[in-house]
Amino acid sequence: MSKVHEPYDGPAGGWDALASSFRHVKEQGIVGLGSLTMLKANQPEGFDCPGCAWPDANGHSSFEFCENGVKAVAAEATRRRVTREFFAQHSIGELAAQDDYWLEGQGRLTEPMLYDSSSDHYRPIGWDQAFRLVADELNALSSPDEAIFYTSGRTSNEAAFLYQLFIREFGTNNLPDCSNLCHEPSGMAMTEQIGVGKGTVTLEDFGHADAIFIFGQNPGTNHPRMLGELRSAAKRGCRIVVFNPLRERGLERFAHPQSVVEMGTGTSTRIASHYYQPRIGGDLAAVTGILKHLLACGVEDTEFIAAHTTGFEQLRQDIAAMDWADVEQSSGLSRSQMEQAAEIYRGAKAVICCWGMGITQHKHSVATIQMLVNLLLLGGHVGRPGAGACPVRGHSNVQGDRTMGIYEKPADAFLDRLGAEFGFVPPRHHGHDVVAAIEAMARGEGKVFFALGGNFAAASPDTARTHAALQRCRLTVHVSTKLNRSHLVHGQRALILPCLGRTEVDLQAAGPQAVTVEDSMSMVHLSSGMNAPASAELLSEPAIVAGLAAATLPRSQTRWQWLVQDYDRIRDCIGRVVEGFENFNQRVRVPGGFYLGNDARERRWRTPAGKATFLPQALPAPAVETRAPLRLMTIRSHDQYNTTIYGLHDRYRGIRGERRVCFISREDLDKLDHAEGEWVDLVSAWHDGERVAPRFQLVAYDIPPGCVAAYYPETNPLVPLDSYADRARTPTSKSVPIRLRRRAETRTT
Ligand code: SF4
Repeated sequence: MSKVHEPYDGPAGGWDALASSFRHVKEQGIVGLGSLTMLKANQPEGFDCPGCAWPDANGHSSFEFCENGVKAVAAEATRRRVTREFFAQHSIGELAAQDDYWLEGQGRLTEPMLYDSSSDHYRPIGWDQAFRLVADELNALSSPDEAIFYTSGRTSNEAAFLYQLFIREFGTNNLPDCSNLCHEPSGMAMTEQIGVGKGTVTLEDFGHADAIFIFGQNPGTNHPRMLGELRSAAKRGCRIVVFNPLRERGLERFAHPQSVVEMGTGTSTRIASHYYQPRIGGDLAAVTGILKHLLACGVEDTEFIAAHTTGFEQLRQDIAAMDWADVEQSSGLSRSQMEQAAEIYRGAKAVICCWGMGITQHKHSVATIQMLVNLLLLGGHVGRPGAGACPVRGHSNVQGDRTMGIYEKPADAFLDRLGAEFGFVPPRHHGHDVVAAIEAMARGEGKVFFALGGNFAAASPDTARTHAALQRCRLTVHVSTKLNRSHLVHGQRALILPCLGRTEVDLQAAGPQAVTVEDSMSMVHLSSGMNAPASAELLSEPAIVAGLAAATLPRSQTRWQWLVQDYDRIRDCIGRVVEGFENFNQRVRVPGGFYLGNDARERRWRTPAGKATFLPQALPAPAVETRAPLRLMTIRSHDQYNTTIYGLHDRYRGIRGERRVCFISREDLDKLDHAEGEWVDLVSAWHDGERVAPRFQLVAYDIPPGCVAAYYPETNPLVPLDSYADRARTPTSKSVPIRLRRRAETRTT
């Protein structure tokens, strides 16, 4: 057994989650402040947790947060600061040699900084000078399309709306965002089938479901409060059916930290009633197998299908023609396992299907999601209480940013309303998504890169190519709260613009301001910070966008500074431009906010056929890559949120103090003649050559043969830029063909 790996016997949550939360608050030196701050997390009068997009229970409890929410908030409320003295002390070369955990641990950024190439240090710069510098670079471009404006999913609705307005007034739709890296296929697949690209369930539905199917998702680490919903469902007898190549503790057992009984007696609740481990990328075939059995049994909801759908006969014929042997081979599951799962579906009156990035980051991700929607439609499980589609989004406002127009392919109707409201002609040609943005920068055609939040250099695939692309830019700008890799992989000129965090008071001319966010289930609500800003020099994201827009667009009719004096004014504009936001200011002030609505949930189908559409899908072609016999899925550790590394442990998987680990089955260790604890390089094979991520320690784990898993961003160098989901172009980070290469180091045992 390797030193870094000691299998974890405890449940998810429980006392260990509390201890971990306390440790993280203590490490940031904010035991008192951290506790007070957490009591305001996800409360109607408090702030929205900057972690994931799982919905709030509307203040039903004073403890609407999880261990990972504590980590995110503690990291933001930390007492540590990155000052001008820090940058004077450390050159960029020195900082670049540090790992992401160390960078994150240095604390909050405190003032705008400009890169000085003569000394290789960042130097302070005033806000007005910084805005002028960016404006001059933007206005010197030969086309607005030479600028790229990235958005992270933390950005509030108000900031996102102003930002896309500024960018479109500037003249481009180059608005790549983190959706391009995660749930792009979900939106595309569902829009084609049911006319809405968002989930159709609400939190309440989890209280009425008879069966919850969870595909390619690890809520214990990525959406921890979802475990509360799953625990309640399991306790009342709802079947929870999990499909995940890895055994994940959060899907097996959970001890609710708010349960006096479970905490007092050391007991926990079993979550998954059935746990299937398909091969990586085998979910499409697994759902096909379930459908094949159901169709053979003739259990479809004929009334619903006749009244609300089209395409059913074609689906039936296609699936009937498929061979069980192919379905078994492609899924990695046996026919009896798929039939067993199908029988659970058959016995349920209300079924929810949840999925995460284990589904979206494959070449055939759109096809997989459409097969999942086929499964829901078969039994009429859309628009029925306790049933529906639940793509679980990652970052806290990633869904809201899209709603606000952060999209490289905006709809004409949206642009019409935007242009009419602000008196300009928006550009109509589509812009770059993340992959196209990197390619454009690599060609020298993307010259200014501006990021509102996020850590683009670490989050994007094909690290070496992404870094080289960013380094070709004339200017890179990052609006950030903390130091990260993207500040160190910069263009000829580079700026860091520090902004307020969610937990901090946002004071504008009209007084303290609240922003709004939209969660994974289309609830829109206010978020108000209460802590003093980390530095007097910080600006809010809306103020930064307004300052930049005013400097760049002297002839704009938009009253940028007037808008940010009072965010109600921004919300009034949103109410007139964005569908579903009428009377925004009034509706969002109702405690808990308001539900945006979902036509598919009401069985109104905004599809070309006017009906929900069954779409048959072929099984993916079998992998024939002999140079790379293993499939790698990139994963998060429990001490990580997206690219932010809060610690070096991964408690539920039993990992301590090491991030460069590779989870592999014992069967593959034997077959490939490797030993647990051995250090290896991971080598991916692609048409343009090999990519290497050096030095990973092998850890024997419960994962199917042929499949391995390792953390990102360390494994992002292995993901080729042109390996992405069909049509949706999401990098295939959950399905990278690799091989192991021996290293000279002795293994650690
Ligand atoms: S579940 Fe997500 S939003 Fe809720 S507290 Fe945890 S990290 Fe924050």
